[in-house]
Amino acid sequence: MDGNGSGNGNGNGLPRVLWHRRVVQLVTAGVVVLIGIRFTLWVSAHLAGRTPTVRRPPGVEGFLPIDGMLALRHWLNAGRVDPVHPAALAIFLGICLMSLVLARSFCSSMCPVGLLSELLGRLGLKLTGGTLTPPRWIDIPLRGLKFLLLGFFAWAVWVVLDPRGVEAFLGSPYARVVDAKMWLFFASPSRLTITVIGILVVVSVFVRDAWCRYLCPYGALLGVLGLFSPLKVTRDASLCTDCRGCTRACPARLPVHTMGRVRSIECSSCQDCVAACPVEGCLAVRPPLGVRRRIWLRPVVATAVAVGVYLAVVGLFRVTGHWETSVPESEYARRLPEISSPLYTHVGGVAMAEEARAAPSFQGSRGEPPASAGE
Ligand code: SF4
Ligand code: SF4
Ligand code: SF4
Repeated sequence: MDGNGSGNGNGNGLPRVLWHRRVVQLVTAGVVVLIGIRFTLWVSAHLAGRTPTVRRPPGVEGFLPIDGMLALRHWLNAGRVDPVHPAALAIFLGICLMSLVLARSFCSSMCPVGLLSELLGRLGLKLTGGTLTPPRWIDIPLRGLKFLLLGFFAWAVWVVLDPRGVEAFLGSPYARVVDAKMWLFFASPSRLTITVIGILVVVSVFVRDAWCRYLCPYGALLGVLGLFSPLKVTRDASLCTDCRGCTRACPARLPVHTMGRVRSIECSSCQDCVAACPVEGCLAVRPPLGVRRRIWLRPVVATAVAVGVYLAVVGLFRVTGHWETSVPESEYARRLPEISSPLYTHVGGVAMAEEARAAPSFQGSRGEPPASAGE
């Protein structure tokens, strides 16, 4: 393992973080926590057969990216927004478009898992004064893992299912309660889940952004989209003093001081390198030809543009009536108390159809505890 120093200074030996990025991260994390509390109150009431005192928060669908991918395919195929989880599509599209404007900006500005990962990494920097990066011959194949996972999901969504299969899946009993299934997965984690999460937390302290760098398929997708973004961190070589503060600050371990335009799938547009650069206008988010024309965006403006794109997409879905699910409360009240039944499962992307309710095997297994809560 190589030890990478934390680099440039803020007096603590930790890389400086732009205040506006941290504010956006904390606000987003706060919203996610509120959504989590409200969804917990709502789903636990239904699971216990009671009437919830709160409404289901549509924002919970942000945790259903595969549903978002399926809904995107359905939208492109049929020209209609999936009415069961419209917010999943809105959030998925908002996040993807953010990255198409400013490479992987969702990762550095809004992702709550990214914030957690970043804080764990900073704890590691504080404790050990550096971060561990496996040697290149291990690091490069490990970074490929997230693309394998992304490829698997893309294959399942775009190849395994045909358009009718996508529509059938999105309307299936399983898809109608998938948010509650996800909640059960985290609310009653198996020993394996706890062990895996524990290992990831510990590893993230010593290897910065271990989950994001090696395993997150969402980050892989956003990284690929980010390659096409017009706004990228760009170095003006004519102003550069080769102090290397940018490279030391970069959580993605990129040799920023040698790069012109940062075209890397690993760059999250965090702008930590910009904050570390002592030369005004040398390193900044720029449009194509920005260096030649001396155009750059102030860091706060670059982040505001990316977040603005996300809010605009979600806002458009909301004002056009594609935000709240079409599933009525009465249906949730009927389905959620029996969520353990085989009706709410799928095998290889093929979900059980409603007709299965009439099958003798289903009748015999209603109400039995699930083999696994999470799918
Ligand atoms: S790589 Fe994944 S977990 Fe990490 S910040 Fe991006 S989306 Fe979030
Ligand atoms: S190159 Fe700059 S913006 Fe990109 S990840 Fe590294 S520090 Fe962040
Ligand atoms: S881009 Fe800025 S921080 Fe990086 S080497 Fe040049 S002057 Fe130093």
